[in-house]
Amino acid sequence: MLASCSKNFEELQKFLKYQFKDQGLLLQALTHKSYAGEHGLKSYETLEFLGDSLINFFVVDLLTSQFPSASEGDLAMMKSYFVSEEYLCELAEEMLLDQYVLMAGKKRSNHVSASLLADIFEALWAAIYLDCGKSVDKVKELFTSLYGEKIVQAVQRREYKRDYKTLLQEETQRRWKERPLYRVVSIEGPHHSRLFEVECSIREFRATAKGRSKKSAQQMAAKRVLELILSSGG
Ligand code: MN
Repeated sequence: MLASCSKNFEELQKFLKYQFKDQGLLLQALTHKSYAGEHGLKSYETLEFLGDSLINFFVVDLLTSQFPSASEGDLAMMKSYFVSEEYLCELAEEMLLDQYVLMAGKKRSNHVSASLLADIFEALWAAIYLDCGKSVDKVKELFTSLYGEKIVQAVQRREYKRDYKTLLQEETQRRWKERPLYRVVSIEGPHHSRLFEVECSIREFRATAKGRSKKSAQQMAAKRVLELILSSGG
């Protein structure tokens, strides 16, 4: 198995500018549990857990050193964007990571979901960390050399300021695998100038906002709840 994949793995390692000493770690990062079970291998899950933390740290370290005068709220917003499933999936697609994922019965790479791809991307960085002897500095340097400029430019283009409902949902899915709820609290005013008040809630977090449309009120309520969650720590 390992032998038949090793040529592909070479290309991936070239992209990463990192050669694994222990190819088994790389293999593990790319192995879905369906395939692991069939072939008696370890799967990516525990690596993903570690990789998630590493990437969080790399991103926060980069943002705070590149944008020292940004407010905590803005930094939290940026961070939440750059560690989102959507963004990590984009980075994974750049290195054609979907083509390396080992899944049972997988014929084509389009079987790999965005969320799996983001998870595998996280696992990959944990694998590098373990392979290089747990040198955080070394892995951070590698991560920054690959993505530092891209992330800084995205900040400068205000790319991270996306719609708040999406941002909030990504954050709550990531934390609790739950979605926030939206509820219209009141509708005021005459037909031509309605004012909607919407409540957004998830777990103990709750905020309301008013807007001229249901949609704009939802956006503002989502922003408030997201700020509450991000400033609650953890
Ligand atoms: Mn993940």
